Amino acid sequence: MAIDLARYVRDIPDFPQPGILFRDITPLLSEGKAFRAAVDAMAEPFRDAGVDRVAAIEARGYMLGAPVAALLGVGFVPVRKVGKLPFHTYRAEYALEYGKAAIEMHRDALLRGHRVLLIDDVLATGGTLAAAMDLVRQSGAEVAGVSVLIELAALDGRARLGGAPLHTVIRY
Ligand code: AMP
Repeated sequence: MAIDLARYVRDIPDFPQPGILFRDITPLLSEGKAFRAAVDAMAEPFRDAGVDRVAAIEARGYMLGAPVAALLGVGFVPVRKVGKLPFHTYRAEYALEYGKAAIEMHRDALLRGHRVLLIDDVLATGGTLAAAMDLVRQSGAEVAGVSVLIELAALDGRARLGGAPLHTVIRY
C-alpha cells in the first residue's frame, strides 16, 4: 500500500515569522520507509529523462537531492548561499516567501549541454528555484525538470519556472 507522505509533514504556524505556516519535513526524514518513498517518488518521473546531474539548494534541498542523485546514478551539484563555495561561482539573486537572498554554484559544476534536474523540499513563491534555473543557464546547461516534495499551490510558484517540467509529490 502506498504511504500517505503528507502524514509525515508537520505544520508549524508562525515560523520563522508570524504568518508563515512552516512545512517541517524532519518527521518524514526520520522515518526510513517514508524517506525512501519520498525520494523514490521525486526521482521516478526522471528515471528515463536523460538527466546528467542533480542540483539542489541548501540546506533541506540537499537532504532530498543527494539521495535522488544516487538513485538516478548521476552526480550531485550543491547550490549554496553566498560566500560558502570555495571556487569561482555564478550568482543569482532572489526573493523568498520570507526575506531576500542570493545563491551560488561553482562555475565548473555543470558542462554546457548538461541536462539538470533541480530539487528542493518546498516550492513556495518559486523565487529560489527560478534563481537556481538561472544558475543552470549561466553555465550553459539546460533544466531537464524540477522535482519538489511539497508544492504550496496557492503561491503559484510554478508560474515562475518558465514551463520547465515540474513534479510535485505533496500539494497543499
Ligand atoms: P520560494 O523561493 O518562495 O519558493 O521558497 C522556497 C524555499 O523556502 C525553499 O527552499 C523552502 O525550503 C523554503 N520555504 C518557503 N516557504 C516555506 C514553508 N512554508 N515551509 C517550509 N519551507 C519553506
